Amino acid sequence: MARDISVNCEICGTTLPLERAKEVLFERDQNSYHVMDLCPTCLDDVLQRSESVNDTNGMRQQAAALVRMPGNEIPAGASSGAQKGS
Ligand SMILES: [Zn+2]
Repeated sequence: MARDISVNCEICGTTLPLERAKEVLFERDQNSYHVMDLCPTCLDDVLQRSESVNDTNGMRQQAAALVRMPGNEIPAGASSGAQKGS
């Protein structure tokens, strides 16, 4: 099996290699997180709007980001089904 795993950024839908994506855990409440894979561009945007960012262990990546957004908001895009045609 090849190791070239690719993922889709869950905000903009860009396909990128797993090692370039960042696993981000969005805090919903104390024990609940929403995990998203983000491309560097969307990660930047999220980090700028976040209230706090911490390093954490992700599901797949050892260095995932634990992000708290204002109001524990989860960025739109993932489960809202806003998918652009590739
Ligand atoms: Zn993106």
